[in-house]
Amino acid sequence: MPSKRVISSSFETLTKKAKVLSVPSGKTVGKKAGHTDSRVEIKTEKTPASHNADITFEKSVDDPRVKIELESELQPNVFSKVDPDDFNKGPPSWAQIYNTVVQMRSKFLAPVDGQGCESMPNTITPGLKVSNPKKYRFQLLISLMLSSQTKDEVNYEAMVNLNKGLEKKHAGGFCLEAMSELSEIEIDSYICKVGFHNRKAQYIAKTCQMLKSEFNGDIPNRIEDIVRLPGVGPKMGYLLLQAGWNINSGIGVDVHLHRLALLWHWVSPKATTPEKCRVELESWLPEKYWRDINPLIVGFGQVVCVPRAGNCDICTVGRNGLCPGANKRLLKGPVSEERKVKLMKQRADLTTLINDYL
Ligand code: SF4
Repeated sequence: MPSKRVISSSFETLTKKAKVLSVPSGKTVGKKAGHTDSRVEIKTEKTPASHNADITFEKSVDDPRVKIELESELQPNVFSKVDPDDFNKGPPSWAQIYNTVVQMRSKFLAPVDGQGCESMPNTITPGLKVSNPKKYRFQLLISLMLSSQTKDEVNYEAMVNLNKGLEKKHAGGFCLEAMSELSEIEIDSYICKVGFHNRKAQYIAKTCQMLKSEFNGDIPNRIEDIVRLPGVGPKMGYLLLQAGWNINSGIGVDVHLHRLALLWHWVSPKATTPEKCRVELESWLPEKYWRDINPLIVGFGQVVCVPRAGNCDICTVGRNGLCPGANKRLLKGPVSEERKVKLMKQRADLTTLINDYL
């Protein structure tokens, strides 16, 4: 589904997705109905120059203060790079690795970008986070509860099932009141493809009761309350606070972030659990990166550095000599046609990445 991100830009050359070649500042230009690519809105607003995107349009935009909003079904990711002042605040090379991943992530959309827990409610109901924050928080909580031991794509299917089912049964659609009216067996029937669905159905039913009786029908906004909900741990809790309440009080550490933080020596070998990893990361990583780090690294771990068989041949972390775990045989190449076909079967369209590096 289309989504919108803001790219603040001090770069002068902007290319790609937009067919619009030159647009006066302050004007909005949209594609005609039926087109699936981009819409570009250009406003002359001063914005911080912290985002770095490897995105360019076919003609340059001269005003360095231009703020650009892209809306597209195939929109690249834009994560902020590390500020130069922060380079020395963590383990050696952490900022170089982080920035390299930011650069790579701008070239593909991973499952987490549209079907990860934070974006899922808005993917199912565009604009929900703004139009109905309370309902967004509830759906975010449910998607987080379903997410453990389950791929984003499968979780997304279960959430769509719930949305369709609850919309038929209740005027409020996919909300706490509607879910509270379902039995555990009914909940289970909607989510039967996710891992441990029986137990998750029990947890969801119990959680709905607690939200109504103890938290006035909304998601609590303190981590100590959130982790009292059955089946909800700190990782989910911190993500819930960030996305649901805009409270940045901790890093949500997914298995991919845990795995890669160990690989890159961002944490010590003693960080054997995501929770220990979170504590170590928070000891040196400046707070301004706490929110981005998980989706940034998760998407990279889903598609490029996948568990057990990293795609080191298209990974610039390895190509730049920054990864202690790089597969040297893959880095040496050459890359066969057969290998390229295999790379194209990852969980995201890697065409741009492959074309850039191979
Ligand atoms: S070089 Fe290989 S092991 Fe290292 S981060 Fe990249 S894909 Fe993963």
